[in-house]
Amino acid sequence: MLNISIPNNKGSYKQPNIFGYYGNFGGAYIPEMLHRNVEELRNNYLKIMYDEAFQKEFQYLLHDYAGRPTPLFYAERLSNQFNTKIYLKREDLNHTGAHKINNAIGQVLLAQRLGKKRIIAETGAGQHGVATATVCALKGIECIVYMGVKDMERQQPNVARMKMLGAAVIPATSGSQTLKDATNEAIRDWINNPNDTHYVIGSVVGPHPYPDMVTRFQSIISEEIKIQLKEKIGTELPNYVMACVGGGSNAAGAFYHFLDDLSVQLIAVEAAGCGINSGMSAATTQLGKPGVLHGSKSLVMQTIDGQVTEPHSISAGLDYPGIGPLHAHLYESGRAKFLSATDDEALKASFNLAKMEGIIPALETAHALAALHQMKFTKDDVVVVCLSGRGDKDMATYMKTMDEL
Ligand SMILES: *Cc1c(COP(=O)(O)O)cnc(C)c1O
Repeated sequence: MLNISIPNNKGSYKQPNIFGYYGNFGGAYIPEMLHRNVEELRNNYLKIMYDEAFQKEFQYLLHDYAGRPTPLFYAERLSNQFNTKIYLKREDLNHTGAHKINNAIGQVLLAQRLGKKRIIAETGAGQHGVATATVCALKGIECIVYMGVKDMERQQPNVARMKMLGAAVIPATSGSQTLKDATNEAIRDWINNPNDTHYVIGSVVGPHPYPDMVTRFQSIISEEIKIQLKEKIGTELPNYVMACVGGGSNAAGAFYHFLDDLSVQLIAVEAAGCGINSGMSAATTQLGKPGVLHGSKSLVMQTIDGQVTEPHSISAGLDYPGIGPLHAHLYESGRAKFLSATDDEALKASFNLAKMEGIIPALETAHALAALHQMKFTKDDVVVVCLSGRGDKDMATYMKTMDEL
């Protein structure tokens, strides 16, 4: 169960202050015309989330529909390879193939209780769009997903899935025709439909209260890890928790219940793309500066005059020029260590996991696995890696790689 604590003006790792700040990052930088929607959400999200009937339905759907709890799997051959003890948190076994369904279920239930009749979402690779369209189909709610034209071409199977689930997929034709343009279109829609529409954001980004709300919905991941470790090894605290970071939602969920356990080292892994200094990277903590993107102050990849730069990663889910404000704070305060893995390192890690454990991970997830090579473990260390999603959606890329080998 989620446990409520009342926001104050200090804030902590587990909860931003009343203005939505984690340390120096967060807040709600929104146009005047969105103020009413965001205020409505801010005034109601905790009340609704911790209502008993809401919790009952949320937990029921996580269990019977999404398939939770997801297993915590001891990866024996991978452990031998790295001479340590590695456990995989199997978010890939969730319905729709990734952790994103946890948040989609939470936000759609919340939208219903706010009396909303229409759901909008943005999507890059299409995973968040598919998760949102799925829950909307389940609940019989209208769903509109904005997606960059370029992403629609690159991710055709997910476009087909969303359509089959009854969602309208609207192409974003402006700018670079990718995720950030789809986000702009979704924001425009929300401004035009303030009364009947809820905007489901897919990661721990956006104006307050989204980062806090999405973190709480995803915190089920670390809640389960603690219980499962206790059962398996007699203690709920591992030495390391590792996760990939795009916007940061699977990492926030995997870290959450360990944030105050300072003996647990938190390792976040960003996408280095073709290399951090190649000009084709998405390693935000290495390349970014404080700035405002999509409604909050965080670290943002930008030019000297503050224009957002185009990121690059082989995995569409990590191809984002910012990170959530919680992660910017974890980075600045040193509570989490930030590493990065290149496109090639991620590809190698995917093939390695497939051969060693019979699990084909998503390309995003593969970045966390690739970073195992950068760590110095002892043989008794307990390492939990968040296996955020499965690799079905990435088979075209994997097949191309095999042809090149
Ligand atoms: C979307 C996605 C990510 C990146 O998003 P976060 O918010 O950083 O978790 C990572 N892994 C998978 C499988 C995804 O679908």
